[in-house]
Amino acid sequence: MDRDAYRERLAATTDDPADLFEHFEERSVAGRTHHVLTAARHGVERGTVVVEDADVVVRGYPSIPRILVLEPGIESFFAGTETVVVEEKLDGFNVRIAAVGGEPLAFTRSGYVCPYTTARARALLDLESFFDAHPDRVLCAELIGPETPYTTTDYEGIDSHDIRVFDVRDGESGEPMSVADRRALCRAFDFGQPRCFGRAAPSDAVEIAAAAIADLDAAGREGVVLKSADGESMVKYTTASQHREELAYAFSLPFECGRDFVFSRIVREAFRAAEFAENDDRLRERAHDLGEAILLPMVATIRSVAVGKPIGQRHTVRGDPDALEALFDHLREQSLTIEIEADRREDGDRVVAFRKVADSSRDRIRHYLDGGTR
Ligand code: ATP
Repeated sequence: MDRDAYRERLAATTDDPADLFEHFEERSVAGRTHHVLTAARHGVERGTVVVEDADVVVRGYPSIPRILVLEPGIESFFAGTETVVVEEKLDGFNVRIAAVGGEPLAFTRSGYVCPYTTARARALLDLESFFDAHPDRVLCAELIGPETPYTTTDYEGIDSHDIRVFDVRDGESGEPMSVADRRALCRAFDFGQPRCFGRAAPSDAVEIAAAAIADLDAAGREGVVLKSADGESMVKYTTASQHREELAYAFSLPFECGRDFVFSRIVREAFRAAEFAENDDRLRERAHDLGEAILLPMVATIRSVAVGKPIGQRHTVRGDPDALEALFDHLREQSLTIEIEADRREDGDRVVAFRKVADSSRDRIRHYLDGGTR
């Protein structure tokens, strides 16, 4: 690979190609070598992929900062910005879909090609027409719905899974389209998109975001992403129900997620409560809900291990049999232990219910249940 040329094309903030590329990993995908950046480095995002054979660069999706208070969070983050757009933040699996040598591939955040999401994206989106017209663009999308290998969040009107496009960027520079152009482009190709709650000056966006968050919270949905109209700056804010959901997940598998994961969710909820709990009774209710989200799932898990039941996240996936087989190989390559619980055919699709076995939580819980010490 011509490392110096790619260092320049990626606009890395170092003159030394070795310094950038020592963090690239080589992976072979369908006969081509993918060079993948495994950690953010010199202004280049984690998950950036270079496929020299096809002369394709797919920049990693940037990390979105988070505000913990809407006021003055929004105004201070968007100081100097004229217009802000408030979009729904969906709880799903992030992929970047890019055409590599004419073949659309769905890249995960860390730069792997997910065979299942690739197959679903090809089936659900008219990628051929899109990449014919825009070969250098990347669709940044969320795979959502109750039947995916990664998340299980329900969305009204989605029985199995679907794809929502929330960003369209230039593959090589990572430059986003403006929100209005991107939304129009997605409409033209009939791509599903996240809901848009409105656009306004930052000072007025606070009210739009607060109302959106109240509705989303009541519906058990994740939150919002606020974007400058040009798509360049983004910031996220999430609902209390999302914080509880993530805590419940983390405590249902208590030794899988790190301590930072649970601490950060509690901090988010504390700020949300400090800003929005209307009175002491409401605050006490929030405390109660938070406590339940922590204790109930963990006790359920301890009891499952005690009676020898398997623990770990359950997922259902449906689709082409070969794509599902490739998915299980892909998950096993990520060092996950997969246990198939049900495998059937429905209308020509293979439908598989499986569990990502939580070995370390199971073993630690067993140890304590047997009277082991910490
Ligand atoms: P990071 O902190 O790096 O952004 P994370 O994995 O903690 O990453 P999240 O907290 O889930 O990410 O928030 C960012 C993700 O939200 C995006 O990567 C994208 O997958 C998802 N997302 C959902 N809806 C939207 C939207 N409307 N606009 C932008 N991103 C969205």
